[in-house]
Amino acid sequence: MIDTHVHSHHSPDARGSMLTIAQAAQSQGLTGVVFTEHGEWYPGDEAYGYLNLDAYFSEIDEARTYFNGRAALGDAFTLLSGIELGNPHEFSREVTAILARYPFDLVVGSVHWIDDLPGWERPIFDSGIPAVYRRYFEELLAMVEVADFDVLGHLDLVRRDSWDLFRQTLTLEPYAEMIDTVLRRLISDGRGLEINTSALRKGLPEPVPGPAILRRYRELGGEILVIGSDAHRPEHLGHGFAVARDIALAAGFERVARFEQRLITEWIDLK
Ligand SMILES: [Zn+2]
Ligand SMILES: [Zn+2]
Repeated sequence: MIDTHVHSHHSPDARGSMLTIAQAAQSQGLTGVVFTEHGEWYPGDEAYGYLNLDAYFSEIDEARTYFNGRAALGDAFTLLSGIELGNPHEFSREVTAILARYPFDLVVGSVHWIDDLPGWERPIFDSGIPAVYRRYFEELLAMVEVADFDVLGHLDLVRRDSWDLFRQTLTLEPYAEMIDTVLRRLISDGRGLEINTSALRKGLPEPVPGPAILRRYRELGGEILVIGSDAHRPEHLGHGFAVARDIALAAGFERVARFEQRLITEWIDLK
């Protein structure tokens, strides 16, 4: 199993060199990781201007060389390059430039900011939790419509944020139509969905998205699935993967996708 959503010290809110993280992941039985560092363009974001992609690719190459040496000893491990684009639909010029310049294996699209405010801090919630849920899904729709990415990150992240701040989550029923539109759009574009297990380590009973959305995605014809821990520390790697796997199987998925150079190169059986 590959953990497809991992942050290293190339993200300002994460710790660990690529080699340290890859070694930790391998010792936990993972077969690979995708380093999906934050690409953020809101000036108020901690990650704004932080990511140095030349340094990122030079470090991942070094770590790959280390593991290539180990592979000869029967100890292979895959390091894939990726990026987590924050609100890419609002920064298409910047996004287009980096995607043209760097050879990413996997591009994750994520909504982090809503109405010029960070979705994980209190001020946006002054308008009330239901209003923020609505705005979050509207923003997600806008992103899916125009942005260039391969898999949608943490589809209902707003649940994790409202849980983090208020120990409260809302039913997603009022937003079902918007969620359907997002899922249909992913499917028709041949893009995938991520199960993000970070919500589990934060105490929610389900990952983001949970079983209901995964069932719906499958029902609508969705096939492309990846599982990521959104690790920001080596100890987060692969957290909750057994739960995610069970949920995926129960929703009718038998495999997850492996991306290389932004194309699916392999299907990994979940059974
Ligand atoms: Zn994210
Ligand atoms: Zn992330």
